[in-house]
Amino acid sequence: MPQPPAPITALHQVLLHTPAYSQMAGALSYLSNALLPPGTLVRVPLGQRELLGVVWDRHPAQPTDAALDPARLRPITAALDALPPLSASWRTLISFAASYYQRAAGEVALAALPPQLRDLSSMQLARKLKKLAKAAAVAFAAPKDPLPGPSENDDSASHPVVLSAEQCQVLNQFRQSHGPFLLFGATGSGKTEVFMQCTAELLAASNDAQVLVMVPEINLTPQLEDRFKARFGSRYGAAAVVSMHSGMTPAQRLNSWLAAHSGAARIVLGTRMAVFASMPHLKLIIVDEEHDPSYKSGEGARYSARDLAIYRGRLEDAKVLLGSATPSLESWHHSRPAAEGGRYLRLEMPSRIGSGQLPLVRRVDMNHQPKSCVISPPLLAAIAQRIGRGEQSMVFLNRRGYAPVLQCTDCDWKSECPHCSAYRVFHKIDRTLRCHHCGLSERVPRACPACGNPDIAPIGRGTERLEELLAEHLADTRRPDGQSVRIVRIDADTTRHKGALESQLAQVHTGDVDVLVGTQMIAKGHDFRRITLVAAVNPDNALFSSDFRAPERLFSLLMQAAGRAGRDETVTKQSEMWLQTFHPTHPLYEALKQHDYPAFATSQLKERQQAAMPPFSFQALVRADARSQEAAQGFLNLASQAAAGRADTAELLTQLTLYPAVPMSIARIADVERAQMLVESPSRVALQRFLTAWQDVLHITRHLPECKSVTRWAIDVDPLNI
Ligand code: ADP
Ligand code: ZN
Ligand code: ZN
Repeated sequence: MPQPPAPITALHQVLLHTPAYSQMAGALSYLSNALLPPGTLVRVPLGQRELLGVVWDRHPAQPTDAALDPARLRPITAALDALPPLSASWRTLISFAASYYQRAAGEVALAALPPQLRDLSSMQLARKLKKLAKAAAVAFAAPKDPLPGPSENDDSASHPVVLSAEQCQVLNQFRQSHGPFLLFGATGSGKTEVFMQCTAELLAASNDAQVLVMVPEINLTPQLEDRFKARFGSRYGAAAVVSMHSGMTPAQRLNSWLAAHSGAARIVLGTRMAVFASMPHLKLIIVDEEHDPSYKSGEGARYSARDLAIYRGRLEDAKVLLGSATPSLESWHHSRPAAEGGRYLRLEMPSRIGSGQLPLVRRVDMNHQPKSCVISPPLLAAIAQRIGRGEQSMVFLNRRGYAPVLQCTDCDWKSECPHCSAYRVFHKIDRTLRCHHCGLSERVPRACPACGNPDIAPIGRGTERLEELLAEHLADTRRPDGQSVRIVRIDADTTRHKGALESQLAQVHTGDVDVLVGTQMIAKGHDFRRITLVAAVNPDNALFSSDFRAPERLFSLLMQAAGRAGRDETVTKQSEMWLQTFHPTHPLYEALKQHDYPAFATSQLKERQQAAMPPFSFQALVRADARSQEAAQGFLNLASQAAAGRADTAELLTQLTLYPAVPMSIARIADVERAQMLVESPSRVALQRFLTAWQDVLHITRHLPECKSVTRWAIDVDPLNI
């Protein structure tokens, strides 16, 4: 006699990524014949599809078994129970991120899991886990290098690291207190060494401790990965250091994730997505270059990995160490003295390692230079001089292409994009006009499309033109070996192909390149040893931007760029940073000249306080896309009015300001009109409560007949670009 099937009894809440249901931030109910602990990964049916889901904690507001009709519920297809369940703190992190950034928990949870988990059976996962455990056991059984110090491959191996006095002091403070910490250290002050020392100490303190190290863009900083692998690989096994970023293949991502989740990985190095890595024994989170805007996600749940790192540290009782030479004003403000309300401990390393000095900042007053010159004669002379000495220069300009606009010299025609409120950029290399927003690319017309005038001229300049100009002006300059000058351009156009950036960077490192031209891409993080001159061709734009964060970004960009120079004192004792500006006495440049970030931060924070801007207030943006600007703004304004008419939202309106809807700074992209509305409050709690209640209103408003043409809307909490 066949056995009757086991009775299906247990009811589970399962979190799924269900865009169609995104209004339901909660979980869906499924049945199974076994009781699965929360955090178990499962596969469940939804309509015709099968989706990956996570068994979630029962919410008190959710229906109980009795209230649901079992006949309408479907069973869980499979439980991936070979995997240990995701921890309670991981689930709390996901729930918090979802509610704080106003997204569905299912979306956040599933985006944080490697996509390949969807395709594997529990058996396959079990096999993979076994392999990982074996590799880890080998490493644990035979630690080759008993002391967490430099190893053979480490750059510091030949001459073991003797920590500087500042590094020692910082480490002592790190040991003695719980943090969170903000390590404010000059470029080249040895922050990375401090990160590795802190990592070594926490890993040594317990057998299963794990450390998460976040970097803004891992493909720009393979050096960091190499340094960690070299330092810790011999002690804990090469498999103990794993990476996590979007440039990895699905299989690599799965392996890293499993290694972190199972505890086999002791160090996880990753970009912002790594903040959600499942690490059951997390003891330390390091956020390198914490000011970097790429820690904030620009799509989906627009989370800040830096801010979530702070939350996660508190949640899991892990130390958090933020580091930067130019901290975000938020973090700087949080690290004011505790007596004034500061919550982070500020650790300072003002000096560079060795005798390398910070570069001398020189300002070229462009009011006194030949009209419309791109590179001033004194700057050209300085670059030529460096070339003659066998040193490298780096020249950057924040615009790629040849010229940002083409213009007819007769009529008013300009190279506007027909689909965007932006100009198409002239790329001389393939004679195209390209829109950098929608991607439209066309051959440059032979004559003005409006009046037929054959004389259409490039206006302004981009990196392509800069490269051309430098080549022209430096044609007669010779390197010490008598050869002609080598110029390389690095920007999004030259690095489109996989591996292109790496090979171009390698060229710079070997010294094959005399002048490096590029966008801000080259100003970040790279350790170019032979660069002794850095020049910003046209940094003024940001001084008068409508975005209140523009000066902060400019200052940190210039300071980071300056930090690329003079890192090797055997090449030069005194490197230089050149600024071409029409406003040489601007306070921002004065502060930069003194390398005085604190002075700059103090004056910026004062302005922000007077204007009640972050970090003295809290903001959210609601953005809407529609066929017309009128419809996009109309939707936002309607939702704003509706908020006043509902008790739960109206009550909170006394504590916050809803500004009228306005077009976004680029109002139209690819024929989609975009508008935004700013919500501001002195109280983070009030803002949060309002947004949560207002979500409903926005959903309802969106379905009104007059909002038919609204295609999308999204909330951005703590937005970086306004
Ligand atoms: P930062 O991250 O602060 O810009 P790094 O950590 O990259 O600086 O350090 C700059 C350079 O100084 C690196 O080449 C590093 O190996 C070296 N360095 C760091 N600490 C020491 C030390 N205590 N002694 C000698 N060299 C050091
Ligand atoms: Zn014309
Ligand atoms: Zn366009």
